[in-house]
Amino acid sequence: MNEKFIPVAKPILGEEEAQAARRVILSGWVVQGPEVAGLEREFAEFVGAPYACAVSNCTTALHLAMLIMGIGPGDEVITVSHSFIATANSIRFCGATPVFVDIDPTTYNMDPALIEAAITPKTRGILCVHQMGMPCDLAAIMPIAKKHGIFLVEDAACASGSEILWNGQWDKIGKPHADMACFSLHPRKLVTTGEGGMITTTNAEWDRRLRILRHQGMSVTDTVRHSSKQVIFEDYDEVGYNYRMCDIQAAVGREQLKRLPYIVESRRALGSRYMTLLADIPGIKLPFEPDWARTNWQCFCIGLPDGCDQRTVMQRMLDNNIATRRAVMCSHREKSYADLPLRFPLPMSEKVQDNYIMLPLFSQMTDEDQILVVETLKRAVSC
Ligand SMILES: *Cc1c(COP(=O)(O)O)cnc(C)c1O
Repeated sequence: MNEKFIPVAKPILGEEEAQAARRVILSGWVVQGPEVAGLEREFAEFVGAPYACAVSNCTTALHLAMLIMGIGPGDEVITVSHSFIATANSIRFCGATPVFVDIDPTTYNMDPALIEAAITPKTRGILCVHQMGMPCDLAAIMPIAKKHGIFLVEDAACASGSEILWNGQWDKIGKPHADMACFSLHPRKLVTTGEGGMITTTNAEWDRRLRILRHQGMSVTDTVRHSSKQVIFEDYDEVGYNYRMCDIQAAVGREQLKRLPYIVESRRALGSRYMTLLADIPGIKLPFEPDWARTNWQCFCIGLPDGCDQRTVMQRMLDNNIATRRAVMCSHREKSYADLPLRFPLPMSEKVQDNYIMLPLFSQMTDEDQILVVETLKRAVSC
């Protein structure tokens, strides 16, 4: 057995991030302020969006996006069950109903061919997911949203640095192509602020409302009040939330953003190397990258050969000091969703959850680590 433990993921955090946090702490201003504004500017520039609004995490980002889209009780939003539960929860936070459609088993993303059958007079929008960093088929989904006059929000939690071919050029996910895109800055994604989220949009009015809603519905920001030479009294015109990011997190995020191009590049190199190495194992189903997509390989998910038991294979890997994870969950199978009747069967979502696993992939992985993972997997699936 190999001595070294190989985790599934590992953030890159170094002296630069530590210095950034220190600088903010010693400045005496730690709440949402100049660093958050700086991260928003730099993130917007990175993805090519006119507006980016930082929040406390991607779950709150999705909640605010759904609030801005104006959904409430009686409304339906089409999404996937096959996602982290925060996706569907954000719809339920507003009292609306998630309507689940199945995934395409090659990209693990919403199957656009199933959307129209799910549209009813109550449908207000679509919440699509760029699952595990793989762009979903926006070119197929967007015309459906347009045709029916419903919104389209992108759950881009995992997709920082992913790209999509759009009108003949490679765009970053988050431009955004749809109405809004929500990102996560959790350590399990590519870049992190500990906890953190970002919402991008092309709509100035939505961006303005996001800033008010994340800050208790308050009409004046702390920065404006702090720097004003005149006394200002704030107003609260609507019920808002405390969904703010703090300046310590944002300063760390700005350093992380500088690393993102390298992180994406190194992950893509590891991803294509996995493709080559794993092609030798009979029965393994490799992930698929359409020619219009460039994933960041936030997760590298493979299907096990028929007849292999997921838990057994994962345990054999762990016995050899290699961590894996079960593929993406299905929200509809959780107790918290038991009262939500399924509109459609979701065979692919369930099959992927039950028969696929995620392999270790992180920038610091060596060639030897990767060979070890593949060799160990080869033995683990010979069942
Ligand atoms: C991680 C994740 C989220 C939630 O992100 P947080 O920042 O942890 O709130 C939402 N959707 C998807 C698809 C995710 O992978």
